[in-house]
Amino acid sequence: MGKCRHGGFVMQQEQKRMNILSYLKGYKKECFLSPLFKLLEACFDLTVPLVMAAIINKGIARHDSEYILRYGGVLILLALVGLTCSITAQYFAAKAAVGFAAKLRHGLFAKIESISFREMDEIGTSTMITRMTSDINQIQSGTNMVLRLLLRSPFIVFGAMVMSFTVDVKAAVVFAIVIPLLAIVVFGIMLITMPLYRKVQEKLDHVLGRVRQNLTGVRVIRAFHKEQDEITRFSDENNALTRMQLMVGRISALTNPVTYVMINVALVLLLWKGAVRIDSGHILQGDMVALVNYMSQILVELIKMANCIVLATKAVACGKRLQSVFDMDSSLKIEGEAEPLQQDGAAAVTFDHVTMSYQGGGDAALENLNFEAKPGQTIGIIGGTGSGKSTLVNLIPRFYDVTSGEVLIDGVNVKDVSQHELHNKIGYVPQKGVLLSGTIASNLRYGDENATMDDLKLAADIAQATDFIMKKPDGFDSPISEGGTNVSGGQKQRLSIARALTKKPEIFIFDDSFSALDFKTDAALRKALKEHTSNATVLIVAQRISTIMNAEQIIVLDEGKIVGKGTHQELLKNCQTYYEIASSQLSKEELQDE
Ligand code: ADP
Ligand code: MG
Repeated sequence: MGKCRHGGFVMQQEQKRMNILSYLKGYKKECFLSPLFKLLEACFDLTVPLVMAAIINKGIARHDSEYILRYGGVLILLALVGLTCSITAQYFAAKAAVGFAAKLRHGLFAKIESISFREMDEIGTSTMITRMTSDINQIQSGTNMVLRLLLRSPFIVFGAMVMSFTVDVKAAVVFAIVIPLLAIVVFGIMLITMPLYRKVQEKLDHVLGRVRQNLTGVRVIRAFHKEQDEITRFSDENNALTRMQLMVGRISALTNPVTYVMINVALVLLLWKGAVRIDSGHILQGDMVALVNYMSQILVELIKMANCIVLATKAVACGKRLQSVFDMDSSLKIEGEAEPLQQDGAAAVTFDHVTMSYQGGGDAALENLNFEAKPGQTIGIIGGTGSGKSTLVNLIPRFYDVTSGEVLIDGVNVKDVSQHELHNKIGYVPQKGVLLSGTIASNLRYGDENATMDDLKLAADIAQATDFIMKKPDGFDSPISEGGTNVSGGQKQRLSIARALTKKPEIFIFDDSFSALDFKTDAALRKALKEHTSNATVLIVAQRISTIMNAEQIIVLDEGKIVGKGTHQELLKNCQTYYEIASSQLSKEELQDE
């Protein structure tokens, strides 16, 4: 039995925060080599104008064709070596970026699996999908670009400036004026667009959310003939996204024309000043060509840098969105050491002064619940729609946490049990049967990979699923489509029940799992269940009195409170709510002769 934990104050465990950059750690070598090779390439690029100047000043001026050929060869060599460096750098950058993205996706997926439904309710599914796909793609291209250009572009801009000063100080003054101005323009535009990109991603979330809702709700939308409304609403969201993207696009599109104009003005100045200096004999024609060359290198590199900054900005915005998911404290964490649960025999489930409110849900969904399911007992839970039945059973596998009070299994608070152990104990059948793509057998084996064919057959028998499984051409190997859309609602429920049975858990939770079954199947199923699960504790949520009538203990819920507790007979006498439900469902004779 679990120990009492009230004596000691359990320190809140410092949750380890994952910085998304730490996923890049495995690629240190690549992150170092890629910029390094890019810098090497840049060095070769910077020597090219000097070689050209030499060819013009010496080779062409003296009509020395051997000199021209020799230095022409040097140029080709420089180009080849530069190309090799560039390819190598690209290889490393791509390796790091793709690997980083893959690890991020993996990490994010694991994080999503670890957070509770409370956090899921809070952030929503569609934004998770955008984060998993488009955000991570942006990070990948941003990383690739940054690795290659972040060092190279400023190096070329600065290097070309220095080189031009070595060619001729007076003419190079033009560079010293134009380049800081260009930098201001490029960075100014960057500062303006940075926050806008985050808004674009948010708008994309909305569009995706709408698409998702339309895909899942397509039958309802068609049935209510609301296609046109949905199309209008989608266009609104989509137009908002487009407008936002156009606005960001327009601002960043300014970068290119503005920088081109500035560079061209600078070129005119340079040619004008240079011509005067050539005339006066201070510099040679070749030097002038070298200067113009450096100027155009700077232009190309600045535009690359602007693009790189835009991509990097987007990547950072996306990175922040991912980081916010990684920063989410999963409320499912365990304070202190996990406590082991008793290993054998049925488990007891105790609710001790349990109150639970949903985030932003207003009134408490459950208020001060107290009851105990003894090992091996069957407990029925009944109550109107919205009375809190699902909320109650969801607290046992810790899909949600209590707001106050305790849910205990064998005397141990579920908050102190590892998720793995907790879920091993529980066979949960949701209100709406959910199947995963695969086959009938793969779905049943979801709870126990090693289940034998006999196990599956027995589970199917108990769940009254054998008949329809055998009618399918492939029996247990019949395919199930994503979400189980190729079986009926009742069949889905029976397969969900069989899946829980295959797991052979100590606690069964059936959340209204029998509602889609006809009375006869419902009865047969409960009879078989009783025979085969006698050593398990069973909680059955139901709307129908007949489903839970024979339970050892019945809990009647009304607006989140327990208004009755006892056997069918006791409740008929003492509980008005129960009597009302019973008399609306059972015939006079049934009410009497029970
Ligand atoms: P039942 O299963 O008895 O029909 P539920 O337990 O599903 O009822 O719901 C109890 C109450 O809690 C309802 O008022 C419902 O609106 C509210 N509720 C259920 N799920 C959520 C949720 N995820 N977020 C906010 N409120 C919820
Ligand atoms: Mg429910």
